[in-house]
Amino acid sequence: MIGNKFVLIGILGLFVLPMSLKAQKQKKIKGEEIAIGYLNNSFDTYDKIQKTIWSTPELGFLEVKSSALLQAHLADNGFKVEKGVVGIPTAFVATYGSGSPVIGILAEFDALNGLSQDTVPYQKALIPGGNGHGCGHQLLGTGAVAGAIAIKKWLEKAQIKGTLKVFGTPAEEGGGGKVFFAQGGLFNGVDAVLDWHPASRNAVRTETSLARISIIYHFSGKAAHAAGNPEKGRSALDGVEAMNQMVNALREHIPSDARIHYVITNGGGLSPNVVPAEAEVSYYVRAKNTEELFDILKRVDNAADGAALGTGTTVTKNRLGGAIYPLLLNKPFTKLIQKNLERVGGIEWDERESAYAKKIAETTNTSQEDLDKVKTVKKYDEDSFGRLSPGSTDVADVSWNVPVGSFVAATFVPGSPGHSWQNVAAGGTSIGTKGLLNASKVFALTAIDLFSDPTLLEPIKTDFNKSRGKDFKYTPIVPDKGPELDYRVIK
Ligand SMILES: [Zn+2]
Ligand SMILES: [Zn+2]
Repeated sequence: MIGNKFVLIGILGLFVLPMSLKAQKQKKIKGEEIAIGYLNNSFDTYDKIQKTIWSTPELGFLEVKSSALLQAHLADNGFKVEKGVVGIPTAFVATYGSGSPVIGILAEFDALNGLSQDTVPYQKALIPGGNGHGCGHQLLGTGAVAGAIAIKKWLEKAQIKGTLKVFGTPAEEGGGGKVFFAQGGLFNGVDAVLDWHPASRNAVRTETSLARISIIYHFSGKAAHAAGNPEKGRSALDGVEAMNQMVNALREHIPSDARIHYVITNGGGLSPNVVPAEAEVSYYVRAKNTEELFDILKRVDNAADGAALGTGTTVTKNRLGGAIYPLLLNKPFTKLIQKNLERVGGIEWDERESAYAKKIAETTNTSQEDLDKVKTVKKYDEDSFGRLSPGSTDVADVSWNVPVGSFVAATFVPGSPGHSWQNVAAGGTSIGTKGLLNASKVFALTAIDLFSDPTLLEPIKTDFNKSRGKDFKYTPIVPDKGPELDYRVIK
């Protein structure tokens, strides 16, 4: 009897399986029509949103208007928005649908200080010393939201089971907003997360990044008349200088891919005839894994202690929230995104945009050949997969909690440096909007793939578990005091 039952199930399976595959395929084709059709008709909507955020550049954890605009647009389009998550007023999670799979999309929206710039192809601040979107996060957030709404239009029409979540993550620039999402367990139960970044090319992300710790050393000494009573003074600036000198000697004896950089944030007084009682230096330490990172940090801490001892000063160490892991890549996920990036293709600038780009390119001596690269998608390069890129991103902490697939789309003029006036300028024009719409289409196609065929998640999860290691347990490397919500407030 049992055997017969299996034969019957087998026969039914032969009949049902091809039918469901066919239905799945049809839903997928329809999904692409709905989602891409929506995005093709929405240039004006997203041009307006990105330019509104661009015009009100807000710094990390202070992105009140930018975050509210994206939240309102998601709510107007049927997402349930939870704001102020993980104790960050500008953080949000917008959810549509129910059940599995659960697919997430990351959205950023913070700007940088000192990068105010008009949309002209030459350097001209709108407000001298003001903020500007030099990393294109107004495009990043808007593109993520556009993609999510396009996917939702399909989920709703085709009545597909599954959950879509947009993570509105503030303060990417130094505040490590995503670390607190990870620490708060907001990625638990999420199957995969999609991520992109504005750039001057179209490519999947195949490079990993450095882990980073941010720390401030504050030296205290004794003020005194520098000529009259020098013996009574202890110079805090001497403490800073001695520390920096030791760290510069240390540099030669750390792994060659590690990085240490510092700025003196309090130079210790204004006049040479007063022995400075207070001085402060702010450090970033970066390394390819957290073990090396903490090893170097200990040596830098020792340099601070040694400097204090030698100069008769005292030092306090204040580790900041922008402490992040190295990025964990996912090969099957990257390959899936590559396929969709190629389907979406490169970006076509019209005559006006090309002329504008050419003028910006003149400021960086960039050739027409390099400019033309925005029209194409970079081929997947197996050899470069896993190579180290000497920067850091808070997407990394997400990538140890859930498989993350990342790519870049051309929203800037090739040849422009990162965090530059050129990127603020181009990003604020239709060049930026075209790039963000391409990114949103890659989001849509990839999410449609995953929702309509969740078996695609299996190799992604296997790769993720293998890369993390069997007994991996995520412990954030931020100090246990929550986000520094005022790290960008000038005091
Ligand atoms: Zn940046
Ligand atoms: Zn960025």
